[in-house]
Amino acid sequence: MPDEAPQRILVVDDNADNIQLLRARLEARGYIVEEAADGEVALERVFSNPPPDLILLDVMMPKIDGFEVVRRIKSDESLPFIPVIMQTALDSTESMVQGLDAGADDYVSKPVNFRELDARVKSLLRIKGLQSALAQRERELSVANAQLRVMSSTDVLTGVANRRSLEERLHDMFEHSIRLHEPLSLVMCDIDHFKRVNDDFGHQAGDAVLQQFAKLLQTEAREIDRVGRYGGEEFVILLPGTVLDAAVTFADRLRHSVERAEFRYGDGQTLHKTMSCGVAAWPHPLVNDPEALIKAADDALYVAKETGRNRVIRFDGREFNEHTAQTEATDAA
Ligand code: GH3
Ligand code: MG
Ligand code: MG
Repeated sequence: MPDEAPQRILVVDDNADNIQLLRARLEARGYIVEEAADGEVALERVFSNPPPDLILLDVMMPKIDGFEVVRRIKSDESLPFIPVIMQTALDSTESMVQGLDAGADDYVSKPVNFRELDARVKSLLRIKGLQSALAQRERELSVANAQLRVMSSTDVLTGVANRRSLEERLHDMFEHSIRLHEPLSLVMCDIDHFKRVNDDFGHQAGDAVLQQFAKLLQTEAREIDRVGRYGGEEFVILLPGTVLDAAVTFADRLRHSVERAEFRYGDGQTLHKTMSCGVAAWPHPLVNDPEALIKAADDALYVAKETGRNRVIRFDGREFNEHTAQTEATDAA
């Protein structure tokens, strides 16, 4: 245990002579001694920053007695572990028991045997050192866990939600929608002829386009919406509280923005891309669960691609149904 700074011991006693005696002994051992003449002053000291490393506490004091002081200290979760040693009268088993019950960590009887006190102080400070190292580790671990949670739900290339986290969010939103009977829309977007970007300008250019595309979606979406990368160049936007009509309008505005955008790559070159979207919403008689909502938007996206790209198709809309009926007729023939 590295103990750089000298440790601070708060001596609480209403008898000034006792305090002077303890101060002399403890300072001789290299501790910094602070003092309080009653329970009220002691508590003020404990709740100021930084709190003492250990408290040597008299039981009998005016106003607030030692039991009450230790009870308040030990019941306060905002405080770190501060060992408390109670000083009890030699013949009083009762006050020793009461002190430990109140939360004291140890006791010494009066008159104080200084060798014994010294040993008890050392042992408790050692425990405090271990305890604070443990608390530090716990804090580090919880920070690392939070970072891990963010990392495991984020798409590395684009910084938007990855597929797993998007699906989790979709399940939550779907449940919420059903519970409150609020609409929920899902837009599935896919960049048109994206493969050509890689083929013509290289994979790095493709990556750059994906990053800017994701940023554009994120900019256009509202705070409560969730943008995620569903596959290679396929993105999903979840729009809670949004009916199908509004989602189609949103998707078409997005489609326009993409069409107008200049995607940068290499050293200052730019290129243009378009995208196709499928839009679906709950409530809808064919959409009974989150998977069906994704499937519906995906089917609509398929029709958008089939009917010429750079377009938005709504699930179960006129164009969707005409195209689907036509395809089924062709398949049957
Ligand atoms: P369509 O209009 O039908 O969607 O045609 P497309 O070329 O966009 O679609 P296709 O599914 O044929 O090709 C998708 C391409 O996206 C193929 C794959 O190499 C590329 N791709 C997927 N993920 C990444 C990535 O992270 N970075 C880059 N640079 N390319 C990717
Ligand atoms: Mg594509
Ligand atoms: Mg694709």
